[in-house]
Amino acid sequence: MESYRGAKKLESLSLAVFPFLGSPFLAIEKMDLFKLARTLIDIDSVTPNENEVGTYLLGYLSDLADRHGGEVERLEVAAQRFNVYARWGDPIVTLSTHIDTVPPFISSREDDTYIWGRGACDAKGIAAAMIAATVHLLEAGTRNFGLLFVVGEERGSAGAMAAAKTPRGSRYLINGEPTENLLALGTKGALRFEIIARGKLAHSAYPELGKSAIHALLDVLQDIRRIPLPHDTVLGACTLNVGTICGGRAPNVVADEASAEIMFRTIGDADPIHEAVSAAVGGRAEAREVSHTSALRLSSFDGLPTTVVAFATDIPVLGGQWGKPFLIGPGSIHVAHTAEEHIAKKSLVEGVEIYARMVTQLLAAQPAAQQASL
Ligand SMILES: [Zn+2]
Repeated sequence: MESYRGAKKLESLSLAVFPFLGSPFLAIEKMDLFKLARTLIDIDSVTPNENEVGTYLLGYLSDLADRHGGEVERLEVAAQRFNVYARWGDPIVTLSTHIDTVPPFISSREDDTYIWGRGACDAKGIAAAMIAATVHLLEAGTRNFGLLFVVGEERGSAGAMAAAKTPRGSRYLINGEPTENLLALGTKGALRFEIIARGKLAHSAYPELGKSAIHALLDVLQDIRRIPLPHDTVLGACTLNVGTICGGRAPNVVADEASAEIMFRTIGDADPIHEAVSAAVGGRAEAREVSHTSALRLSSFDGLPTTVVAFATDIPVLGGQWGKPFLIGPGSIHVAHTAEEHIAKKSLVEGVEIYARMVTQLLAAQPAAQQASL
């Protein structure tokens, strides 16, 4: 632990009042929250280079652990890659998000309304909001919760895979991704195929001597687009996008090869879609599955407005090992992964209040006997 002490660190978040459950932040607290978000953004942690931001968080959280009787651990994932875990008491609730980002690194800036930069909403602003909520909870005397910051979410979920193998008994997981502070009732799945058609070259003046791969592909795609897609009352419609299409050699050549990449956003069992795609292709082309992430149903939470999101998270990889999952966070997925990534300061502050309230309510919902045993 001592070796983390040297990490460059901010003045710790401080508070003089009991601030959550709707009480407004003091101006100084907001400044600390924004400063922490910007400090995290300014440490380049494009996957898989999370070492520096992880080291910074170890130092920052070690101070918080020292002051409030907590413990901080470095959970190894791979060489120079580790998750950061902090706990106060025996955690029943864990707040968790990821500390890697997509490329390229973009340093932070701010104006009156927003904080900008890579990771502003996905997900370093969220990490800062979770830490600020932790400070509020600790100052209020709350215990039995923890923080888990994982590496690798943006590419392969290595951190979540490692975390799933080392659960710490937490019964609830609050996973942070940008949902505009709405509780996600589910995430659509993603099922991706490549459709490959093969034909026979010929002079286009004599098409009967060849076999057009492009014509075959168009017919197959048309039949795939006719597949009736299911609808779910919570997750909405299963949708299909024909994302890319390519093939052929010249206008006067019968094409010998053509392919398309298609993607379904699923809302349930993917097997019927597999079968329908095979039937639609009908031997005229090859349908190769490229990847599949299952659709996910999540629970509601007393008093929080809800949404459904289409993006993927670490929740399926964590596999319930860190407790029953909830998905919520400040910021919008629509600007994540873009050159204009940003987060509204107001949304960050609301995120802190939501996280603190959720932890408090989840702890309060525990049976008295269990609380006493902890
Ligand atoms: Zn994310």
